[in-house]
Amino acid sequence: MSVGRVVIVGASVGGSRVATGLRAAGYTGAIALVDPDPDAPYDRPPLSKQILAGDWAPDRASLGDPVRWRAERHVAAAGSLDPANRVLRLASGVALPYDRLVLACGAAPRSLPGMPLPGVHLLRTMADSLALRDRLDRIGSGRLVIVGGGFVGAEVASTARARGIDVTVVEALPAPLSGLLGEEVAAELALLHADNGVRLMCGTSVGALVGEREVTGVELTDGTTLPADTVVVGVGVRPGTDWLAGSGIPLDADGGVLCDEYCAVDADRTVYAIGDVARCRDPLLDRHPRVEHWTNAVEQADVVVRNILEPEPTAHRHAFFVWSDQYGGKIALLGRPEPGDEAAVVRAEGPRRRFAVAYLRGGRPCAALTVNWPKALLAARRSLGSPGGCDDVVAAWKNL
Ligand SMILES: Cc1cc2nc3c(=O)[nH]c(=O)nc-3n(C[C@H](O)[C@H](O)[C@H](O)COP(=O)(O)OP(=O)(O)OC[C@H]3O[C@@H](n4cnc5c(N)ncnc54)[C@H](O)[C@@H]3O)c2cc1C
Repeated sequence: MSVGRVVIVGASVGGSRVATGLRAAGYTGAIALVDPDPDAPYDRPPLSKQILAGDWAPDRASLGDPVRWRAERHVAAAGSLDPANRVLRLASGVALPYDRLVLACGAAPRSLPGMPLPGVHLLRTMADSLALRDRLDRIGSGRLVIVGGGFVGAEVASTARARGIDVTVVEALPAPLSGLLGEEVAAELALLHADNGVRLMCGTSVGALVGEREVTGVELTDGTTLPADTVVVGVGVRPGTDWLAGSGIPLDADGGVLCDEYCAVDADRTVYAIGDVARCRDPLLDRHPRVEHWTNAVEQADVVVRNILEPEPTAHRHAFFVWSDQYGGKIALLGRPEPGDEAAVVRAEGPRRRFAVAYLRGGRPCAALTVNWPKALLAARRSLGSPGGCDDVVAAWKNL
């Protein structure tokens, strides 16, 4: 194949996987990896778990050394793009011509008004995780308020609780993740927090951060003020695409890069987008979902490697899988529930909360959630694709 140079913007899991995948497939051309984070490439899931807990040294989360992949590593941000001439310009002014460009520049956390204020933390990078870990070391068994009860907020709650910290989670929705899981299932999942001594306040949001030299509390919109030594803000992310404004690359209203089912942005398949930044078309749903989970970035990277190297394009099939480690157990979601899906819940006996949910759409199984029940996840993987569908999976769970 005649692709001379592949430039990859973003050296996290998606970008690194493209670089290693190209080499594994025998690609001998030039690869440039562009990312301003001096610690990249590393994996993010351990940042709210093992790294934050202090169980792992930072290098255990490393995704490898670009030198070993024979990739040029540019520790710089991409600043602008000229797709007509196939040139990426770095914020430093350096111009990188490309034959293929992969946008794997992910997303950045949203902040709250009043930030930055010492003691108020975001969690996206290795530096963020280490700074939060230091802060938690300093407050000892103090008070942590987490704004946002999504997967990352819940994992921080779990890690902090294991360190003996007093934790409150503030969530604007009726229950964390209720938009994704449905209100009843989300409310049942949220009981994990209470089981583990975490206070959860739902249906309220933050009016203001309180404190002058550093944070001392969080004022809620219902008028309550929660005292806090540390605040973690986990209120979602925004695709890192401001630098693409005016480039002609199609962006959705939220900044996600619109691409087709081959992860290609343009008709001649010169520019691709993957991972948290990408909105790849799902032909089954006829939509362009943006998926913020690890497995999606890996799967799209593998598709793009093939599409760069092979003449016949391969479509990305949205499988949707997310896991989350909380309170010593594991939550897994296979497939993506939609509003209106029916939910069948099977609960297991035992000292710890353990249940599984099958989601049914138009009589067909489309997704499963398992909580602290690895065998149920295995059964769901086997049954979801089978003709018996939901009955099979529910029956299988009942027999475990
Ligand atoms: C704390 C935490 C825990 C998580 N845990 C889980 C989990 O348990 N399970 C799960 O499924 N998912 C988890 N995720 C989500 C998962 O890590 C992400 O879906 C995944 O990292 C997305 O990979 P990506 O390569 O698309 O983008 P990102 O990981 O966001 O990386 C994008 C990279 O692009 C770089 N970049 C940004 N702008 C520019 C620019 N202008 N020029 C050059 N480079 C740029 C950034 O510095 C960054 O390194 C977690 C995420 C976080 C933050």
